[in-house]
Amino acid sequence: HAKHLGGNCFQFYTDNLQVTTLERLQLETQLRKGIENGELEVFYQPKLNLADDSIGGAEALVRWRHPQRGLVGPGEFISLAEETGLIGAIGEFVLRQAVNQAYAWHQQGLDVRVSVNVSVHQVRQGNLTSIVRQVLEETHLPARLLELELTESQLLDNVESVIATLHQLHALGIKLAIDDFGTGYSSLSYLKRFPVDYVKIDQTFIRDLSQGGEDAAITRAIIALAHNLELKVVAEGVETQDQLDFLRLQGCDEIQGYLISRPIEALDFVRVLRAHAASPSMA
Ligand code: C2E
Ligand code: MG
Ligand code: MG
Ligand code: MG
Repeated sequence: HAKHLGGNCFQFYTDNLQVTTLERLQLETQLRKGIENGELEVFYQPKLNLADDSIGGAEALVRWRHPQRGLVGPGEFISLAEETGLIGAIGEFVLRQAVNQAYAWHQQGLDVRVSVNVSVHQVRQGNLTSIVRQVLEETHLPARLLELELTESQLLDNVESVIATLHQLHALGIKLAIDDFGTGYSSLSYLKRFPVDYVKIDQTFIRDLSQGGEDAAITRAIIALAHNLELKVVAEGVETQDQLDFLRLQGCDEIQGYLISRPIEALDFVRVLRAHAASPSMA
């Protein structure tokens, strides 16, 4: 990656650790500047509601439009942002963008539940509830149209400290989801301790979904468990019609994946939304 990060000073180092440290420092500096310069953008990936084949939701996913490297995905900078504390600024930016976008759609008569990924670092900073409350008040977005996604593994590392905050957030009327569910090895009884509305089955289970396989059994079990706890289920990473057919048969509530659409810009999102309203059987 180093050559993309500008400069070639890394070549003077022979120690891998030092190279890595320098690269990370450069990346951090660039990210910090990028945030200030407005280089972050939010893309939206539709979620298809299987009850009526309409687009009921959108996941907000951050991208970094880097001046030299082009569009950079969150996989390349979120963990660095978490380690350096920049996740606070990024998270608040994405939240504001997503809530403003959801309100713009709401005003056009399009009620889309917008989900924002939240890092547990933001939860632990202690002011997440007041930021969310403030952003909702500024925009007048109905709270039910905002959802926050937290990954199962991050929840498990911080159970006690996080649950109280989740209750505060839930009391605002927003929706909460457990992301990447099934990968965190949680005791299933944990599920009922979190005040959540949605469980998102991790895409690793969806990938090899085929009738009879282990992943199919796990997926079936997660859907049954979630429904018993009166939670809705979203399957992510759905790429094929076979996967969709299986999930529909199992009573999965919503799906998200390249089969419906990749994450796209807000303007394109409205086109996908209208296409699904006009000819729902296309899905
Ligand atoms: P995630 O929240 O689990 O988001 C789903 C990821 O799967 C997205 O990757 C999405 O583009 C990708 N995806 C969706 N459908 C398909 C599919 O059919 N096939 C495949 N192969 N992939 C699919 P993305 O946008 O690169 O985001 C990666 C992760 O970065 C997210 O995983 C989330 O954990 C994190 N992230 C993204 N935006 C934010 C943010 O604003 N804040 C925080 N804290 N984390 C974020
Ligand atoms: Mg997510
Ligand atoms: Mg996920
Ligand atoms: Mg993920």
